[in-house]
Amino acid sequence: MDWEKTRELIKELGEPAYRAEQLRKPVFEEGVSSYGEISTWPESLKEKMGKKSQILSLRLKEMTVSQDQRCRKAVLECRDGKMIETVLLRPSQARWTACISSQVGCAVGCPFCATGQMGIKRNLSAEEITDQALFWRQFMRQEKIAGRLSHVVYMGMGEPFSNYEQMSKSLKILMDQSLFNLAARHISVSTSGIAPKIEAFAEDFPQVNFALSLHAADDKLRDSLVPVNKAYPLAKIRESLKKYLQKSSRKIFLEYILLKGTNDRNEDAENLISFARSVGPLELLHVNLIVFNQTDSPFKATAEKDARAFQKKIMNAKIHSTIRQNLGRDIDGACGQLIFKQ
Ligand code: SAH
Ligand code: SF4
Repeated sequence: MDWEKTRELIKELGEPAYRAEQLRKPVFEEGVSSYGEISTWPESLKEKMGKKSQILSLRLKEMTVSQDQRCRKAVLECRDGKMIETVLLRPSQARWTACISSQVGCAVGCPFCATGQMGIKRNLSAEEITDQALFWRQFMRQEKIAGRLSHVVYMGMGEPFSNYEQMSKSLKILMDQSLFNLAARHISVSTSGIAPKIEAFAEDFPQVNFALSLHAADDKLRDSLVPVNKAYPLAKIRESLKKYLQKSSRKIFLEYILLKGTNDRNEDAENLISFARSVGPLELLHVNLIVFNQTDSPFKATAEKDARAFQKKIMNAKIHSTIRQNLGRDIDGACGQLIFKQ
């Protein structure tokens, strides 16, 4: 729902402003999915609005649930027929997280990522980005799932910083207390490293969690794993991260997928440690080692014991580090597995 447009529409129908206000909580907080359910509205208005507009700009095409029920993936159709994917995760008993897409496809083309193989189709609008969270609020209400969608991560399809304007708009909507009402510290944005936008982000959203998909800490290797590195090499990224730390008091998450024989060697750990040291105080950095989810690519995941050994090297250098095993691998709902052939 584009809230401004909806408000305009209600006004055009000759209705007083409070009719729009009556929509806010049911739609954004409670996940009501049709105007017919707005109990404070007269029947005539429900009908008129139902004919003129729909609450959600996206339509469900397909839903899959992981065996452990902690991950659901939805394929959603945009108004122009383009398909995107969004995932609802339950990382712990009390937490519900939506992983949302910011573009249809992605231009960066990381060879280990399924989305990267699609190329870029188009940017998503702020409405399409936030409607993925709205979709999950509606879903939770319909399925009578107790709890509240409280966390959002921009880690679905696309590079959020290549769609900076609409991403910013969507963040403001998610944090707006009278709309989605999500806490800034419950939202995370991940980028492959569009350096100038890292600085803009620190300025614009210092309270929102920020993750950089590093994956390699020497330029030659990173050029091949995260091709945008050719435009914004590590020296540039380092400067942007330093500026980020000056402006924001939050930790930076360095994401690092462990790929067997590619970026998990001793020298790779050493490069990673030197890079972290060159960025800033180590207590402001956190290395998130990610278990690779198999995609249609020649890469293989690092074995668990080797991943632990790599982590140990990082921790011995006094850098915080965790290993992240993603949910939803059995339904291709995990990071990097989001693809929809169209
Ligand atoms: N484009 C942004 C955000 C979306 S990708 C970015 O790259 O940061 C979200 C996360 O999933 C990134 O850290 C990305 O590197 C990771 N990812 C991509 N492919 C993966 C795969 N096959 N296995 C595990 N993680 C993957
Ligand atoms: Fe794009 Fe991120 Fe996938 Fe790289 S990992 S291709 S930047 S979505």
